[in-house]
Order: sequence, then C-alpha cells, then structure tokens
Amino acid sequence: MSALKINSLNELGELFSKKHQAKVLPALFLGHGSPMNAIDDNRFTRFLNALGKDMTRPEAILVISAHWMTEGTWITHMERPKTIHDFYGFPQPLFDVQYPAPGRPDIAEAIQKEIVNPQIQLDHEAWGLDHGTWSVLRHLYPEADIPVMQLSVYMTQPPEYHMKLGQELAKLREKGVLIVASGNIVHNLRRIRWEHNVAPYDWAIEFDEWIKQKLLARDFKALQNDFLNTEAGKLSNPSLDHYYPLLYILGASNNKDELRFEYEEIQNASVSMRCFSFGRV
Ligand code: ZN
Repeated sequence: MSALKINSLNELGELFSKKHQAKVLPALFLGHGSPMNAIDDNRFTRFLNALGKDMTRPEAILVISAHWMTEGTWITHMERPKTIHDFYGFPQPLFDVQYPAPGRPDIAEAIQKEIVNPQIQLDHEAWGLDHGTWSVLRHLYPEADIPVMQLSVYMTQPPEYHMKLGQELAKLREKGVLIVASGNIVHNLRRIRWEHNVAPYDWAIEFDEWIKQKLLARDFKALQNDFLNTEAGKLSNPSLDHYYPLLYILGASNNKDELRFEYEEIQNASVSMRCFSFGRV
C-alpha cells in the first residue's frame, strides 16, 4: 500500500475530493476510558465499529491523544509508528495488541508547514501510537489501513492555546484528514470502580450533563473557561489531560456543523464515554 506523496495540504485535498463527493470530514471527540475497551466486545466497541463503517473514508487520521503530554506541540513523523503500551497492571492480551497503521510523514510535514502559530514540531522517534489512539481506532478501523498521525497535548499551555490550535487544524477537514480527539470529559481514576454494572457517581452524571448542555448551547467559552468552577467539574477533572482534547474539536468546528451526540455512557462509575461529532452528515 503506497500512497502518493503529497507536497501540500491543497494537493491532499484535491486527491480526496476526486475520490469522494463529500468535501468535508467531521471533527470527532471520542471518550476512550479503560484500555480494556481495546480488547473488549461491548456496546461502546460495537458503536465504534458501526461508526467507522458509516463515515466517509479519510485519506489520513490525526488523533489528539490525552496520553501524549509534552512540552511543545509535536506531531508523529514516521513511516511506521510503533504501538505503545502505555499502561501497567493489565492482562497480557492487551500488551499483545498491535495497531500497525502506517504514518504519513509527508502530511505531517504539510501540516507543520501550514500551521505556523502555534508551531508544531516533528517527532521522528520518541512517540508512536499510544492507547488513547489505538484502543479506539482498532474498533473504528480494524484493518489499520488508513494512515495515522498523532498530535501531542502541550500540557502547560492554557485552554485558549488548545482551542486556537483546533481552529488552525479545522482546514484539515476539507483536505481528507479526519480529526479525532481522544480523551474523557469525566475522568477520575482514583474513584474508579470495577464492579459489573456499577452506578455512576452523581457528580459524574452532573458534569457529563453540563458538558452536553454547553455543547447544545454552543457555549464554547464556558467549556473553555468554566469547567473547573463546580465541585462536579473538579471531581471529573483531577487533571486536565483528558479534558483538553475536547477543546481541539470545539476549535475545529464551525457554526454550520451539525452537532451529533454519538454515544453516551458512564463506565466504571467515574469515566464518561460520551462521544460527539461536528459536521458528520
Ligand atoms: Zn486515557
């Protein structure tokens, strides 16, 4: 499988529009939850599988993963990104998972060239695909035949930085690149419960619903600035790594995009699996 090397995002966009009637791809936020979802067969994984079949096939996928926290913003620039097993204490079959999707260094370079503020740096070897990416992509695109790049989360930057970078990335949607942000809008691992069919905490339900209402109202300012204002918000986000990916999707959307709530569930009492998209028609 050798793709034609491109020199610019415009070239990529032309290739994409020749193949498809649809001119714009959605921006997609996916909750990923426990790494076990990668090998489980459940309502969530079946949803991902159906979603992958339902969407226009992208030329490439750019995933903003909660699990790649960096100083500076980096994009993977590798022909063959390695599968990273960035967790401990899980069963061996999870460590055996490989997601051998190719990379697209040429597209990574085009993105780096065209987005100058903020600056994106090319990562040749430090990272690859972490479980924020492959635990969902292996259900979304089980063949692993669509090139994948990962974008890191520059953790010491404020929310506005992530929103602004999302706005810069928006143009990729017209060039055949599917933008996926993988995190969780309620994510408290200290309060996690592993019993089967455990009820969610009240604060988890409250914050998940707050997000839903703010999305419906398109109150992106609140989603950017007010998410830690309540006790429920604080309990849902003891750290910001799983929340920040959401801001990229808000930034990559525009007010003509239809908002779709693709999936709702709270797993393990304290992890919201809510998934939504902008512009999926
Ligand atoms: Zn995670």
